[in-house]
Amino acid sequence: MTPTADIAVIGAGPAGLAAALAMARRGLAVTIVAPPYDAARAAADRRTTALIGPSVDLLKNLDAWDRCAAEAAPLAAVRIADDREALVRAPEVTFDAAELGLESFGANIPNPALLAALNEAADASPRLTRIATSAVLAIEPGNSDVRLKLAEGGSATARLAVAADGRNSIAPKAASVTVRTWTYPQTAIVTSFGHTRPHNDTVNELHRRTGPLTTVPLPGRRSSLVWVEDPSEAHRIVDLTGEAFGELLEERLQGVLGTLHDLGPRLLYPLSGASADRMGARRIALVGEAAHVIPPLGAQGLNLGLKDAAALADCTAEAQTRGDDIGGAHVLAAYHRARGADVTARSAAIDLLNRSLLTDFLPLDVVRGAAVHVMANSPALRRLLMRGGLRGAGPLPSLMRPNAPLAGS
Ligand SMILES: Cc1cc2nc3c(=O)[nH]c(=O)nc-3n(C[C@H](O)[C@H](O)[C@H](O)COP(=O)(O)OP(=O)(O)OC[C@H]3O[C@@H](n4cnc5c(N)ncnc54)[C@H](O)[C@@H]3O)c2cc1C
Repeated sequence: MTPTADIAVIGAGPAGLAAALAMARRGLAVTIVAPPYDAARAAADRRTTALIGPSVDLLKNLDAWDRCAAEAAPLAAVRIADDREALVRAPEVTFDAAELGLESFGANIPNPALLAALNEAADASPRLTRIATSAVLAIEPGNSDVRLKLAEGGSATARLAVAADGRNSIAPKAASVTVRTWTYPQTAIVTSFGHTRPHNDTVNELHRRTGPLTTVPLPGRRSSLVWVEDPSEAHRIVDLTGEAFGELLEERLQGVLGTLHDLGPRLLYPLSGASADRMGARRIALVGEAAHVIPPLGAQGLNLGLKDAAALADCTAEAQTRGDDIGGAHVLAAYHRARGADVTARSAAIDLLNRSLLTDFLPLDVVRGAAVHVMANSPALRRLLMRGGLRGAGPLPSLMRPNAPLAGS
């Protein structure tokens, strides 16, 4: 049996690494129990992540942002256009960070660059250790600690297990937490491309009958693409020749980004959703997609996961300061209070927005069109929505505030 630190984080995806770094930054001894970092494998993820401002502040406070900022592009505006060919068409609306007095809402970063930066920061953190395993096979909570059984035959113990092992997490069952899962009749096509017109740091989100088609700025005249389609159409499109794909995308974008070139490889992601009824129990905290999976609309998925990480760091650090059990029921209850409502509200809003695109129901189209019309013409409402989109419900965790004072390093 391998004794471990106070906290064992299962999984070294972006949410797990951020959680480990955040808790170490708040003065706790943390062990990451996961497969070793594999740069070649990470490079196969062609996605990029649009991070909102507080997520970027968290990465700065975790000493990760400077390690990848050169590969990120600022997101200064979000333009939403209705391309649903519906009877009632919503007007175009642009959310501009300048309306909030901000230079940008956040930044878009390729996933491999983000993961590399988080791993570098983890390697440099004196309170972080790692146990390399191909997988944690079982989590066994006890009265005073929790044991992780490793695929290689050993085990590790900690006072709190932080499950950041993604959407197929083994933790909810061990924690007796119920997870509701569902699928959408949609598949996302993901790629990146160069273009002749500047993107002006603007996200383009075209709301189409089959789902959103979103371009997100990358440095220079390049953008990433998340194009959500009916699954059979997505498979057809992804199999087109590069030239035919480029022409079709150019047509869909109606010339906004000019002529397209240098198309990257295309990958498919079937869309699904998941929602845990609690953020943790029985010495197990759920973080990131182990707790919630939402469709890629409005850049919410990992932003929620990073907020989980920062909130859990606050809850555990406060327990440690009080001399409480850091894996005890009080800490998990505080963590659920900090994150449960925000996760539920945002997941429901994204689910509703996605489903409202798919419907042919005329009254819903009318309500949707009217709501967007009000939004397009009301700077005050736009500002309110933008602030809500950036901050979410409740106070920001301490490490998501700019230049947060840090306990430990
Ligand atoms: C097309 C698409 C576009 C997206 N765009 C955005 C965006 O713009 N903005 C945004 O905020 N979000 C976005 N998301 C969501 C975002 O990608 C996810 O929320 C995020 O990757 C989840 O991170 P995670 O660390 O929770 O899980 P994962 O990235 O899945 O990491 C889980 C880790 O746990 C490890 N693991 C699994 N099982 C075990 C085990 N038993 N033992 C040990 N380790 C284990 C895995 O190897 C993996 O490294 C997008 C998602 C998709 C599909």
